[in-house]
Amino acid sequence: MNIHEYQAKAVLKSFGVPVSKGVPVVKAEEAEAAARQLPGPLWVVKSQIHAGGRGKGKFKEAKAGDKGGVRLAKSVDEVKEFAEQMLGSTLVTIQTGPAGKQVNRLYIEDGSDISRELYLSALVDRTTSRVSFVASTEGGMDIEEVAHKTPEKLHTISVDPATGIMPHHGRALAEALDLQGDLAKSAAKLLGQLFTAFVSTDMEMLEINPLIVTKSGELRCLDAKVSFDNNALFRHPDIAELRDETEEDAKEIEASKYDLNYITLDGTIGCMVNGAGLAMATMDIIKLYGEAPANFLDVGGGATKEKVTAAFKIITADPNVKGILVNIFGGIMRCDVIAEGVIAAVKDVGLQVPLVVRLEGTNVELGKKIIRDSGLNVIPADDLDDAAQKVVAAVKAAKG
Ligand code: GDP
Ligand code: MG
Repeated sequence: MNIHEYQAKAVLKSFGVPVSKGVPVVKAEEAEAAARQLPGPLWVVKSQIHAGGRGKGKFKEAKAGDKGGVRLAKSVDEVKEFAEQMLGSTLVTIQTGPAGKQVNRLYIEDGSDISRELYLSALVDRTTSRVSFVASTEGGMDIEEVAHKTPEKLHTISVDPATGIMPHHGRALAEALDLQGDLAKSAAKLLGQLFTAFVSTDMEMLEINPLIVTKSGELRCLDAKVSFDNNALFRHPDIAELRDETEEDAKEIEASKYDLNYITLDGTIGCMVNGAGLAMATMDIIKLYGEAPANFLDVGGGATKEKVTAAFKIITADPNVKGILVNIFGGIMRCDVIAEGVIAAVKDVGLQVPLVVRLEGTNVELGKKIIRDSGLNVIPADDLDDAAQKVVAAVKAAKG
């Protein structure tokens, strides 16, 4: 689960992490009042959307001007002016995709005088099974580009869960960020705070870009991007409350209501599969034959007819879907349940695109019979290879 920058900063602040003072607002008038609560003479007006690259982003609407999604304001009036322009406008950044995201909330922050912009992030490193920090002196810019062009400027600090943060981690961070004296001590302290925050709230990813050195010689987190492990959210009701569903994919929210493992992708072939491994293989083979999957979907082992119906409806409601591939290897999942679910969904919402069904395993004959008897225009397939070729051919034919 992702959260907004202002929420991430509040979480970090509760662990003692240094962040700027700020006030979230949803109306331009509130922005003015918020700015008056802050000391000035510099304010930052920051778009709150679940995507990075806001500073370099561009608004679609002319009224929002061309100054980007993070703006420095030199007066309260300017804060209000920017807020009026930005609220309700659609911001396009390298992470939003071309459709962009509507800005419904701003964070008005006390502006900092920046001396240096650094980079610091933390993630669960699957190769070492540890929390790793990544640090670089090249903050404020696109870190993927730094990783690509100058990988030697990224430093990894891996933390053994048995010991937690040790003094040597702090020294390694200070060295990686080229910090000395009091700043080196602050870096070591910050590392401990971030590690505690990361572990105790079950974060999946934490990115501070930039971490700044202020002109007065202090470290401060100027940006914060945090995501939490969904599987651990039940342990943190306060964090679960930070969820902003308006920022999430509507299809994924619908799927989560039915406990379906569904992820929207940008291809044309809707997939309904049982088992994560088979779902991955199905996506791969679609790619192999020259199209791309519109989603990942694992309906799970003991799916009911209702669950299958819901899944099928989510797939058909996606306008990008130009063909559907149902690929079921019945084990615990029974082929007849899948067949009934698909038919119930089609009866409800119709079928506008070609549907290829490959059934195998438990109750396969019954499943095939249910589909045959339904009179549905289904393209049957014998095996995965055959199914993938047929759905790709059907989609290509429909495209013309
Ligand atoms: P992002 O573009 O979505 O990553 O948003 P950031 O919060 O990282 O802001 C983008 C850039 O705006 C930063 O890299 C800074 O250069 C600048 N910026 C943000 N806050 C301040 C501030 O308080 N003072 C100054 N001078 N610049 C800021
Ligand atoms: Mg940033």
